[in-house]
Amino acid sequence: MPAGQLSCHDGLPEVMNAYILAVMEQIYKHIEQNRNLFINRLIDYLRQPSISAHGEGMDKVANYLQGWLARLGFDAQLMPTPGWPLVLGRRFDQPGTITVLLYGHYDVQPPDPLEEWISPPFEPTIRDGRLFARGVGDNKGQHFAQILALESILAVHGKLPCNVIVLLEGEEEMGSPHIADFIGKHGDMLKADLVITSDGPLPENRQPKIEFGVRGVIGFELRARGANRDVHSGNFGGVVPNPLWTLVHLLGTMKDAQGNITMEGFYDNVQAPTDLEREALARLPIDEMLVKHELGLTQFDAPIERTYYERLSCWPTLTINGLHGGYAGPESKTVLPHEAFAKCDIRLVEAQTAEEIFAKVEAHVRRHAPQVEFIRQGGMDPSKTPLDSLFVEPLRDAILSATGEEPLLFPAMGGSLPDYVFTKILGVPDFTVPYANADESNHAPNENMELDLFIRGIKTGAAMVSYLGKMKE
Ligand SMILES: [Zn+2]
Repeated sequence: MPAGQLSCHDGLPEVMNAYILAVMEQIYKHIEQNRNLFINRLIDYLRQPSISAHGEGMDKVANYLQGWLARLGFDAQLMPTPGWPLVLGRRFDQPGTITVLLYGHYDVQPPDPLEEWISPPFEPTIRDGRLFARGVGDNKGQHFAQILALESILAVHGKLPCNVIVLLEGEEEMGSPHIADFIGKHGDMLKADLVITSDGPLPENRQPKIEFGVRGVIGFELRARGANRDVHSGNFGGVVPNPLWTLVHLLGTMKDAQGNITMEGFYDNVQAPTDLEREALARLPIDEMLVKHELGLTQFDAPIERTYYERLSCWPTLTINGLHGGYAGPESKTVLPHEAFAKCDIRLVEAQTAEEIFAKVEAHVRRHAPQVEFIRQGGMDPSKTPLDSLFVEPLRDAILSATGEEPLLFPAMGGSLPDYVFTKILGVPDFTVPYANADESNHAPNENMELDLFIRGIKTGAAMVSYLGKMKE
């Protein structure tokens, strides 16, 4: 973007603003000049499978990344876990000042179904300004953009403007089973002031965004049993209890028809949004009519008075994922089933914890239907970084400088990611700044990333590190 567009921006004092704009112009120019080289390097990286689910190529790619970071002058090493190693690179060019940790993951999803790929998943191919390959959006193209951003700063200035830690995980696509433990044990090597993750898609209009949090999640199963076998509903109906009714009644005590979750103490730790969060939520664009139209709905879920993003960011949910038992085939079968199952998930918001809510649901089940078995499945805590964090201003300025657009600020996303390992275990603010297009088709055939967005990602990464470096002055 032309520098003039920023002249009225008041994030930094005028003199420093002019200085960093000049610095960034040089770096952006370097990135533009090396566009083809950078794309070819990404292609080389994408040719190498690294499928954590099968183990294919994992060691090779971990070594490849360690080599990249070492060549950039990082103290780079592979950090073992009981599963795949993490790649850790550290470069401290500005001792005593800000350290940013850039997180990403080098493992990719399996490419199946192979026959649905237009070009093979590990033979990267450019079509219509997009690069098609497994892992290009999720997450190789995004963390490789960060690495190329660091390289570009070093090529222009020979030094990084702040201290940088790069942490690349090899098990994200398996649900990150070891990262919490790893971060708990290696806090001394990971001492940073903030974490930035570039993962996930941008909105359809490509407007940049910063995500400040995610909802947590727990999953559980309820199992109810009646007689020791299915029986005739005429011969035994009224004598033998029906486990499906047991579950229906139990589930009915968990949530009312107005949409309130009615388990004791469930909302105790739910935080009301701050004024800043309310303002940010109100600014997020959403066409509620269009969403309803696309989903074939006449109205959203109860309670109806909540706004779209308030629902996703500020409120926990209880979802029945499935309710099974008895007969659901064609015609009728007058059976009285002997067992019934329900699978449920709960999305958690700050400052609920998975452990707290597991315990509350379990206590609720014991109180209302002690004969029903309660089985815990996985859980993940929510995460939230305050919108008034002192890093918000430099990150906004950086993104504006690199993309020409103000980023949207998302207080929390509806889905769940293990961001809590940074905010709660490492204890630092965590920001997600995605680079990929909305239709990146991650986890699906024909995964792709727009080349312009890859290059914009390199510029954004370089700007974020540079503007964070300016904070010390
Ligand atoms: Zn993924």
